[in-house]
Amino acid sequence: MQRYSRHLLLDEMGDTGQRRLAAARVLVVGAGGLAAPVVSYLAAAGVGHLTVVDDDAVELSNLQRQVLFTTNDVGKGKAEATRAVVAQANPDVDVDAVVERFGSGNALELAADHDLVVDATDNFDTRYLLNDTCVLLGLPLVWASVERFSGRAAVWSAGEGPCYRCVFPDQPPAGAVPSCAEAGVLGAVPGVMGAIQAAEAVKLILGVGEPLIGRILVHDAMAQSWDTLPVAADPACPVCGADPTITALPRQVAESPVPELDPPALRDLLASGAARVIDVRTSAERDIVSLPFTEHLDAGEVGVRRVGVPDGRTLVLHCKSGARSAAAVRTLLREGYDGPVASLRGGILAWADEIDPALPRY
Ligand SMILES: [Zn+2]
Repeated sequence: MQRYSRHLLLDEMGDTGQRRLAAARVLVVGAGGLAAPVVSYLAAAGVGHLTVVDDDAVELSNLQRQVLFTTNDVGKGKAEATRAVVAQANPDVDVDAVVERFGSGNALELAADHDLVVDATDNFDTRYLLNDTCVLLGLPLVWASVERFSGRAAVWSAGEGPCYRCVFPDQPPAGAVPSCAEAGVLGAVPGVMGAIQAAEAVKLILGVGEPLIGRILVHDAMAQSWDTLPVAADPACPVCGADPTITALPRQVAESPVPELDPPALRDLLASGAARVIDVRTSAERDIVSLPFTEHLDAGEVGVRRVGVPDGRTLVLHCKSGARSAAAVRTLLREGYDGPVASLRGGILAWADEIDPALPRY
């Protein structure tokens, strides 16, 4: 009674609402910047069960916004570190820490048996998969996304309003939209948007207020403004429309592997003048650190037309840690680039680890 007294004073909550929170089960996918306020407030509110899914470990560069973690957590698994924080914050809350990537193979099993799902991810693959999973299971999805100084939030709830796919039907190709790691984000922005998600989750559990269904809340921290965009369900939506084409989650199809080079192999190629290297990171990243022997092309611009014909050297693309350059190599191969081409495995971070430890890391 003491712990929750400020809730019990609310007419909309009261003893019944507090018991509803205690009985609720919430799945939080992603344990990063959005999850920090989501998990903190849901645990403090006494939500009885939280399942936290994340397969990453805490990195030093996460601490600027992922305020659940401390310097001592660097290197620990995020899901497990989150569980440890909640155990200290509120022993009433039972936390399942799932150290797995949320994928089409485990999505239905992980989400089933929860009352709602919070999207605290940072990538489009997981976001579309989460949407489809929630539509198939009939669960509300509390979504937010952040980039630089802005954030967006909504509740997707097929049947009562649009799902994510109704509003964003086309998944952007890998590498076309910069992630947090590429574009940067003001640390307080995921804090603000995650707190919105926590409030929406509590409202949905209690069944009170006007949930963010059918509208997207848009926050701009630079102008310090809030806008609301009305959005509608699409009757032709492939997952929640009248005649859906997505009626199950896709089987995981392994993509053909992209040719990769290790940093020492690239060093040897460079020594013999047999490599041409293109840095596909953004200009802001290149300002932090760049390799002296590279050309520059943003990942979204990579294509046969921009790269030109093979010149006999091995074309090596690199980014920060290897994902964007691998996607760009895949684009070149798809477009028919017919010279030797590879992605630098582990990106400039691996180059710093293995070849040039003096390089700044970010
Ligand atoms: Zn839909």
